[in-house]
Amino acid sequence: MTAHLYPRRFAAPFAALILAFAVVWWAFPEQMPFWRSLAIVTAWGGSGLLVANLVLMVREPHIARLLGGLESMYRWHHRSGMIAYLLLLCHPLALALNGWVEAPQLAWQTLVPWAQSWPLWLGWAALVLLMFGLATTFAVRLPYRRWRAFHFALGLGVLLALAHVYALLGGADTLLLLIVVTGVALGWRLIASDLGMASHPYRVTQVVHQAGGMVEALLSPCAAPITVAPGQFVLVAFGDGQAYRGCGEYHPFTVSGIEADGGLRVGIKALGTCSQRLQSLEPEVLVRLQGPFGTFLSDSPSVPQLWIAGGVGITPFMAALRAYACIRPTTLIYLFRKETDAAFLDELTALATTDPQFELLTDASDKGLPDFPELLGKIGHITAREVSICGPIPMVEALLPLLREIGVAEESIHFEKFDFR
Ligand SMILES: Cc1cc2nc3c(=O)[nH]c(=O)nc-3n(C[C@H](O)[C@H](O)[C@H](O)COP(=O)(O)OP(=O)(O)OC[C@H]3O[C@@H](n4cnc5c(N)ncnc54)[C@H](O)[C@@H]3O)c2cc1C
Repeated sequence: MTAHLYPRRFAAPFAALILAFAVVWWAFPEQMPFWRSLAIVTAWGGSGLLVANLVLMVREPHIARLLGGLESMYRWHHRSGMIAYLLLLCHPLALALNGWVEAPQLAWQTLVPWAQSWPLWLGWAALVLLMFGLATTFAVRLPYRRWRAFHFALGLGVLLALAHVYALLGGADTLLLLIVVTGVALGWRLIASDLGMASHPYRVTQVVHQAGGMVEALLSPCAAPITVAPGQFVLVAFGDGQAYRGCGEYHPFTVSGIEADGGLRVGIKALGTCSQRLQSLEPEVLVRLQGPFGTFLSDSPSVPQLWIAGGVGITPFMAALRAYACIRPTTLIYLFRKETDAAFLDELTALATTDPQFELLTDASDKGLPDFPELLGKIGHITAREVSICGPIPMVEALLPLLREIGVAEESIHFEKFDFR
């Protein structure tokens, strides 16, 4: 996740709000009792946000750039889904209260599914699926693949919710708009992204085994290369080789090097099933690649830099250091468990001796977190620097309050977490 991208970080919530408000404005009820009006407003507001929630999971580089980056989109994808669900939950309750005004019996009949017909059952089924999908969204301990499969229940929930409205109202203009946007967003995500129709063909042309259980692969373009900046990441699905069997899924990897001919390097650490298998990657494997995504290191003010990398979080900084000599004083604090675990250490040490603007500080913390106050105390004029952090979540979370305490301005702190849920 990249933080503090004024004003881009407001783009995703703004887009979601615009869609929800536009839908409510179109369908705003006139001259109806209060509770019935509220039921209609919550239904359309919730539906608008649900559809916005689908737009925010579209993985398309131009849309991602427009909406402030994939990380911000995913954050607001979750938040808009949650708010939409709460609004939709208010819809039957408001209808029941509308009935209550006439007779309590009517309120009861509004709430019990067996007293209703199939168009209303569709609505209840949508609410149940949305509840299930949302409950699993926050189950961070669930294995990633299972989490993703459950998460897709939300897509089905949205389709059922729209079918419920269609069965009741027919093809109202507002509804047709929502159906079209839903179709395009879901279609793009499933066909172009997950099935890879929008991918670029690359080929593995070199595999280098780095220290610390990391393999670095050079991916060379088979057609026109994509343009990637240091700090950005790509989604990569590796195919099969002579002996290597790829897992075929798209995984995000930050580029660790950008070649003049459009080739991209990615450093892959064995962190789970697929990345473990990638340690035996071989040249000639075909690769499908999507992107680029992300805005990390994209703000380049002319002030001194402090970069903090933990373990595999070194990859975005490697790409920047390999791409150009530092144009302003840059200190990199590289944190690892043991020196033998530190990928790219020789290359970084060599860079520090040849680039007068570049300073390298390393720290091997073995187990537990390093002594951050001591490390940060070594940095001269820290409050005058732009700080960029990339590494494990506990490291980022330990550093943020310390930096604020020292007096580094909020908008000068940028961070990237290698996590996408
Ligand atoms: C923006 C970003 C940049 C990253 N850059 C690098 C990098 O440069 N080098 C590197 O080694 N790792 C990087 N990672 C982490 C890398 O994507 C995961 O380690 C890898 O996907 C794990 O897959 P697995 O099957 O081996 O592990 P699993 O055990 O299946 O998953 C481990 C964790 O990885 C994440 N993950 C798994 N599959 C996916 C997926 N398809 N999409 C998104 N997240 C997934 C989940 O959080 C999961 O909990 C990056 C992650 C993100 C989000």
